[in-house]
Amino acid sequence: MISIQGLTYRYKQGPTLQFADWHLKQQEQWLLLGASGSGKSTLINIMSGLLRPESGRVEISGTSLYGLSARELDRFRGRHIGIVFQRPHLVRSLRVAENLELAQSMAGLRSDRKRIDLLLGELGLSEKSDRYPDELSQGQLQRLSVARALVNKPLVLIADEPTSSLDDQNAESVIALLREQAAANEATLLIATHDKRVRDHLNNEYIL
Ligand code: ADP
Ligand code: MG
Repeated sequence: MISIQGLTYRYKQGPTLQFADWHLKQQEQWLLLGASGSGKSTLINIMSGLLRPESGRVEISGTSLYGLSARELDRFRGRHIGIVFQRPHLVRSLRVAENLELAQSMAGLRSDRKRIDLLLGELGLSEKSDRYPDELSQGQLQRLSVARALVNKPLVLIADEPTSSLDDQNAESVIALLREQAAANEATLLIATHDKRVRDHLNNEYIL
């Protein structure tokens, strides 16, 4: 489903990073583990189509990401890769549901309010549909980021350190939410973390 082969990345004034080959099957749930500075975010960004590697390839469902034009890659990412960013990427001047519609249109998809309402319902945000992001709590914003990542039914759901700023109870519930939603949407799940609390929850590990 997703594979990486021969990936390396070199920061201009920084280290050269090398990543062992990796294959994730459809609907598998994986942890990407490693100490702070080991390259987790770099690898996540490369696998999300956000950072072109120096060498090697990333293939998702038969498509070689960096073989696409910039425009095709944007489309592909919007359509097939759901990313839960550490800080939510939302437009403050748009309402909750409108933010999700924007994610659909940016992926070249038609507005699908049924899909949006379904997701907001599942994530306990139905009543917030016409609110603005600034009117949501931290926990609600995080659930909205998950909704945004899932709205286009991606093949893969990727989260970078989703629990780093959360207390134990919220960390548990975010991991549970990501696992449930990945399964419900038949997406492969990839969570990068150095948080030991997350470790017991997923059984596949790639260690940097
Ligand atoms: P992690 O997410 O595991 O903490 P990162 O992928 O952020 O690791 O960083 C991997 C390594 O690359 C670290 O040594 C970091 O200092 C370095 N690095 C990250 N971003 C940059 C950058 N923009 N310029 C130079 N070095 C960077
Ligand atoms: Mg990181």
